[in-house]
Amino acid sequence: MTLLKAVRGTRDLLPPETELWNRVEATARRVFARYHFGEIRTPIFEDTSLFARSVGEETDIVSKEMYTWEDRARAQSEKSQSLTLRPENTAGVVRAYIEHKLDATGLLQKLFYIGPQFRRERPQKGRYRQFWQIGAEVIGPPSAGSESPLRDAEVLEMLASFLNELGITGWSLALNSVGSSADRPRYIAALREALKDKVPQMCADCQRRAETNPLRVLDCKVPEDQPVIETLPRIADYLDDASKAHFAAVLAALDACGVAYTINPRLVRGLDYYTRTTFEFTHGGLGAQNALLGGGRYDGLSEMLGGPKAPGIGFAMGLDRLVLMLQAAQGEAASALSDAYIAPLSEAQNAAALELARELRRAGLRVELGDGSFRLKKSFEMGNKLARVIVLLGEDEQRSGILTVKDFASGEQKKVARAELVKALRKQEI
Ligand code: AMP
Repeated sequence: MTLLKAVRGTRDLLPPETELWNRVEATARRVFARYHFGEIRTPIFEDTSLFARSVGEETDIVSKEMYTWEDRARAQSEKSQSLTLRPENTAGVVRAYIEHKLDATGLLQKLFYIGPQFRRERPQKGRYRQFWQIGAEVIGPPSAGSESPLRDAEVLEMLASFLNELGITGWSLALNSVGSSADRPRYIAALREALKDKVPQMCADCQRRAETNPLRVLDCKVPEDQPVIETLPRIADYLDDASKAHFAAVLAALDACGVAYTINPRLVRGLDYYTRTTFEFTHGGLGAQNALLGGGRYDGLSEMLGGPKAPGIGFAMGLDRLVLMLQAAQGEAASALSDAYIAPLSEAQNAAALELARELRRAGLRVELGDGSFRLKKSFEMGNKLARVIVLLGEDEQRSGILTVKDFASGEQKKVARAELVKALRKQEI
């Protein structure tokens, strides 16, 4: 029989690696709470048109990478519907913002999410078909200050603080402004003009995109097309005064709080909904897939989805990649040893051993429980692999309440009264 394996591009996460995952998630929750973000959990699948309308039909994500299927109607009252496993979470958050009329509060909504996303990409280290993102969005009516460059700078400063708190150093932040909806038509016209003569030598995707959505030509990864892309007009040269002033204010606020950045005029990011500020944090330690996180402003997204005017800014970071960074920094995480291994010396002590384990665990200690069918030698071998000390529980110990405890590191063996055991283990006196 062929053994079944996890599907290509997906993987199981096992301990001790999952400890690192939990650490990253806990750090995000802790840091984001200081900025008053609340958690949102949206469904893992959505109506396909949500992504087509927001991320954009011509993006790689929508045109090549989505897991989409026709969901058959189960009752006459239902219609069959095209559904898609979410390839990203911003569209779902903005859909929820509109659906729950969150703009009626008149306040900025600060929402974060942690969850799996799905893209049919070519799997490699740091790139998977099911991957995890931690992301956040700041969205609201303009009257709540949602367009302010201070929001952009605050989000970027939060990300810098998060990475520092996680112990990830050596990252770089690249920034750009891709202009507002007012700037975009002038830039697209210039891009079309410049592409006219060049596009026949470019790849098939670029030839199509030059017609349908020229901005997406800038995402092309085909090496032969890069020299041509280098010669194309830069969006920075097509910003109007308001967009320039917005970007300058973001940079000034970052300078004021000491967050270092570089400006990359080619950073457009592969999603259609971005306006004005776009950004990416990269890290050299990640190899080819060097983007730790990316994001930007999306002032028109809510309206693209039929909602009210609700400018916003957000980001998504790759949890898989953050964990890869931490693993590289600390080497394989050694699984921490338990505080005690309890060894019942015969099966007659099994129940009493479970009771003792319960007592210690209730006191917050990490405890492994052996089995009375093990010979003493095996108990010591197992205990040595799993815990700092072994606690022997035989007939004598059970009767007298005086336990035999041996510390593996020092080799020291002691008698400890049961009532003193928690205290002794906590103080590591044994
Ligand atoms: P994006 O949603 O494309 O802006 O990506 C934001 C971040 O998600 C990236 O910077 C990566 O860290 C992470 N990411 C995107 N795609 C993948 C993938 N296929 N596998 C792992 N991480 C990914």
